[in-house]
Amino acid sequence: MSASVQVLDKSFVPFLDAETIDASIATLAAQIKADYGDKTPLFIAILNGSFMFSSDLFKKLDFPAEICFIKLASYKGTKSSGHVITAIGLDTVIKNRHVIILEDIVDTGKTLSAFLPEIEHQQPASLSICTLLHKPEAQVHPLDLKYIGITIPNKFVVGYGLDYDGFGRNLPEIYQLKD
Ligand code: 5GP
Ligand code: MG
Ligand code: MG
Repeated sequence: MSASVQVLDKSFVPFLDAETIDASIATLAAQIKADYGDKTPLFIAILNGSFMFSSDLFKKLDFPAEICFIKLASYKGTKSSGHVITAIGLDTVIKNRHVIILEDIVDTGKTLSAFLPEIEHQQPASLSICTLLHKPEAQVHPLDLKYIGITIPNKFVVGYGLDYDGFGRNLPEIYQLKD
């Protein structure tokens, strides 16, 4: 992971290598097992960004667990109520399940803070968030992030599922926007 990469019109420098990402996910898997190993949790992975992370995390879980995948769509309200975030593809019954949301990155926290009430409305037995990356300096919407893989500075990153305008998701490691 020595060279910089070009994604569309921007240059990115190496930031988190495969070993670092893998070690962080192994730690998350162990923490989640300690808390949920006997609870048959339901993971809800938020597409597109979390597809690689959720796959690698799920492979490390050696206890019964389910996973489903959703996309979030935001709509401008016709009134001044702002954005409403709706899940597309949520076809699993959540009621009385121990739900763990899987996110690639929590930045401002806006997406999850708008989406969580929709899940809570369906009365899960418990609800927690697991994010691979967290940018605390950027967060403006408070969230209880139970599992955080790697805390990073407030700079744009790509790779390992995360995109820049749709590209760069296939990079196996994580790169940071060059200054
Ligand atoms: P939020 O600001 O609502 O916490 O972030 C919402 C989404 O924006 C994240 O789930 C992620 O998909 C995207 N995002 C936030 N920060 C970054 C970043 O540094 N790089 C990329 N590629 N996506 C980001
Ligand atoms: Mg995301
Ligand atoms: Mg994106």
